[in-house]
Amino acid sequence: MKTYFLFLALMLGLHTSASAKVNVVATTPDLGAIIEAVGGTDVEVTCLARGTEDPHFVDARPSFIRLLNKTELLVEGGADLEIGWLPPLVNNARNARILPGASGRFVAAENLALMEVPTGKLDRSQGDVHPYGNPHYLLDPELACQVADALATRLSRLDPERVGNYRKRAESFVTTLRKKNTLWKKRLTPYCGTRVVTYHKSFDYFLKAFGLELAGTVEPKPGVEPSAAHLKSLVAGMKTGGVRLVIAEPNRPARICQRVAREGDARLLRLPLLVGGATGCDDYFGLMEHNVAAIERALR
Ligand SMILES: [Zn+2]
Repeated sequence: MKTYFLFLALMLGLHTSASAKVNVVATTPDLGAIIEAVGGTDVEVTCLARGTEDPHFVDARPSFIRLLNKTELLVEGGADLEIGWLPPLVNNARNARILPGASGRFVAAENLALMEVPTGKLDRSQGDVHPYGNPHYLLDPELACQVADALATRLSRLDPERVGNYRKRAESFVTTLRKKNTLWKKRLTPYCGTRVVTYHKSFDYFLKAFGLELAGTVEPKPGVEPSAAHLKSLVAGMKTGGVRLVIAEPNRPARICQRVAREGDARLLRLPLLVGGATGCDDYFGLMEHNVAAIERALR
């Protein structure tokens, strides 16, 4: 009888040992940080991308396949964020639990209202890496709350014995984050409407959440390198449009970022996109605090 239940649990993708931690792999460290917050001591989390990497183009290491082979839950950002590197790894991992649609595959973008979802025919011909909308939604604390809540539901389904733990931690994460978010918004209120240029469309949710305005991007389309003509028109627009900041992740080319800021009469601010992307950004709260404080200092 015991064997039958074990078999049934495996078929349903349920975690089978009451004492062991649920093995989770997250594609990016910001997702990893939210899983840690919700899963606490009940989960063992490994992140594939480093906080300093571009999540669209992650350097896939052979160890990833071994990690994916034994994981019970794979958490990805979705909206094609990882399309360039994750699918071949999952195929090679030979783990039915994490195949698309399986109970061990969690796509965080599902059920979120994404920004910039294209209407009409999908067109990747020009290299746009955001074909299903903007996948950098975790920089909006409200959307991070929604992801935490959905993760608690999924972990509870995989590991029903610890449902109370997951629910309690998710509620605590959401309560703390909403309190902090109110304070972050208050601190940035004096700079509401400030016009900003970013390198990639990475900070759109962040800017919207905190009342700043995106005036243009160095990339003409997400993932596409700028031409000389694009840069010329961007810089001209910055000067006439009163752009005060150029925000770029530390991994974007320094020469172009510095040139755009200098010629556009704006200040260059290097901000991390992911947890682990800069000193002090060791968890989700740390990342957001770092970015809010950096903008406050730059505009003061
Ligand atoms: Zn992107």
